[in-house]
Amino acid sequence: MSQRKATVLLEHYLKALRLPTMGREYGKLAAVCQADRADYPTYLLRLAEREVQDREVRAAERRVKAAKFPVVKTLDTFDFAAQPSLNQALVRELVRGDYIDRHENVLLIGNSGTGKTHLATALAFAACQQGRRVRFFTVTGLVTWLLERREERQLERFHQQLERHHLLVLDELGYVPFTKAGAELLFEVVSRAYERTSLLVTTNLPFEAWTEVLGNERLTGALLDRLTHRIHILEANGESYRLRESRQRLKRSTTTRTARNTS
Ligand code: ADP
Ligand code: MG
Repeated sequence: MSQRKATVLLEHYLKALRLPTMGREYGKLAAVCQADRADYPTYLLRLAEREVQDREVRAAERRVKAAKFPVVKTLDTFDFAAQPSLNQALVRELVRGDYIDRHENVLLIGNSGTGKTHLATALAFAACQQGRRVRFFTVTGLVTWLLERREERQLERFHQQLERHHLLVLDELGYVPFTKAGAELLFEVVSRAYERTSLLVTTNLPFEAWTEVLGNERLTGALLDRLTHRIHILEANGESYRLRESRQRLKRSTTTRTARNTS
């Protein structure tokens, strides 16, 4: 067989076997292995390793995309010094994702701007990297989805889709009060996730105030009972990061202005 024909056939087979990285790399790696005097099994091993690594990266990218984060945030960019009340050790433990295997939940409580959404996204992003299926919702967004799916008689299907995830993020509980139907639909999500899918909830409300947004004491009790049975609570009660940043910006601009005026 001619060299040319062999190359065309090999590339065709690698494509049919869905091994794109091997198809791209086999020539370059052959040259490297020849220079290293590596044997055939070593060449094949290195080639297969690259395919596996690339495949993991592609799968993680797909999971991040499917999670539908509003903005991707990671722990690297989170400044713990700006939020000293936060239990950093617990955040570092949670980012490893073992709580998800144990079907435990996480609640992030704090005022607006204290980094709840940032942290929730960072934890959920880490879970995607670890091979876990994640979906991010704002609570109001989720309730709207649920109401729409119910209208279309697709509610059960939607619940089944949710149940295929390892972790659901429910961001911003408490900013908007629910209708009776909305609260019941949210309760169903929490109830079906119980001991199956981890929930990561962020809220600005202390537990005492949940009845007010959910509008029903019994339902709130039942929801809290399930949510908090196995839960890690992270509290951020420092000042708003946004506020702090704009204050610092303002301070910087006034000091430069004063400096300019005095010079
Ligand atoms: P919350 O959800 O509590 O209202 P966000 O997570 O939306 O707050 O934070 C507001 C903005 O400030 C975001 O851009 C976020 O990335 C940033 N931010 C908040 N806290 C921190 C922090 N400690 N370190 C770095 N960025 C932060
Ligand atoms: Mg938020």
